[in-house]
Amino acid sequence: MPIFSKEVRLASRPQGEPTLDQFAFATVELPDPQPGEVLVRNLYISVDPYMRGRMNDAKSYVPPFEIGKAMTGSAIGRVLQSNDPAVAEGALVSSFYGWREGFVAPAKDVQPIDPKDAPVSAFLGVLGMTGLTAWGGLFKIAALQNGETVFVSGGAGAVGGVACQLAKLHGCKVIASAGSAEKLAFLRDELKVDYAFDYRDGEPLAHLQKAAPEGIHVYFDNTGGPQLEAALSSLRPHGRIALCGAISGYNHPQPGPRNLPMAIGKRLRLEGFIVSDFVGDLAEFHKEAIPALLGGKLLHSETIVEGIDNAPAAFLSLLRSGDTHIGKLLVRVGE
Ligand code: NDP
Repeated sequence: MPIFSKEVRLASRPQGEPTLDQFAFATVELPDPQPGEVLVRNLYISVDPYMRGRMNDAKSYVPPFEIGKAMTGSAIGRVLQSNDPAVAEGALVSSFYGWREGFVAPAKDVQPIDPKDAPVSAFLGVLGMTGLTAWGGLFKIAALQNGETVFVSGGAGAVGGVACQLAKLHGCKVIASAGSAEKLAFLRDELKVDYAFDYRDGEPLAHLQKAAPEGIHVYFDNTGGPQLEAALSSLRPHGRIALCGAISGYNHPQPGPRNLPMAIGKRLRLEGFIVSDFVGDLAEFHKEAIPALLGGKLLHSETIVEGIDNAPAAFLSLLRSGDTHIGKLLVRVGE
């Protein structure tokens, strides 16, 4: 029986803010899997801010999407057919074959996941690259210590939400920002952060000074822009910044931060990272995160959009200040 898969392709490259007409849909018939290959039906696909960079024709740590070809990204699916003894039929697997309903690929390209540990979608969120990004940035890059004060921008989003919770679990004082009243309520009521503020409501630095009059020890930067400048001003001597993302400039890159020289006098350390730097630490991260998740101490928060047809719009929403999703944004493409 032929199996068809709808996929999302890049139609053209954006200048500034991308639009829906820069994506195209195609339905392809999947080939029979050959020896060593698997046929997978995707259940969830991840849409992520870094994909905005892949829409540009620019060299980066991941290659650009190719015009007219299916886009790629993280996904969780179920193996419908396996021609490799290492992967069982019916197994749940993660892969990098997102933005499509199904695919045929070498078995080595898929990684089995254990659904007893958590809901399947959590492997794209709190237990997946999202959680690993938060953990690696906080502890491997910023070397966050128990009892320190940390500011997390984008606090109600996927990475930021996990960063806030991990920092709280380590006994830290957490200040977090987000772009809507609903997100601030989530930060205060669900994630129990110590101080939450809307970064568009007054000067971010005024909020940091109110929340931490003696300054912050660590800044987990998801946004760059004015919040990075505020953090540079607030940081204590020998403070650390984990440069995770700079979403405020993805559509419209801006120079800055204007007060970077403060890093000299305060002996600050700013370090960028890519989550793949920590792939070898996944087991160490899971050792902490899985018991916390199963014990109810780490929330798995997600917003699920239905259907591959809605994947481009979901992705575009991520890039907007004050968008409505909370936690990890996923697209469900199969049951
Ligand atoms: P989120 O779930 O946080 O979604 C993005 C959020 O960014 C939006 O919901 C919006 O929330 C906020 N935002 C959008 N535009 C602006 C703006 N102009 N200024 C401030 N905030 C804005 O996404 P992720 O958690 O997946 O990613 C968070 C950051 O981490 C991104 O910068 C991403 O690129 C980066 N990242 C880096 C990785 C790495 O390996 N270094 C890996 C994964 C992610 P709001 O309502 O608060 O405005």
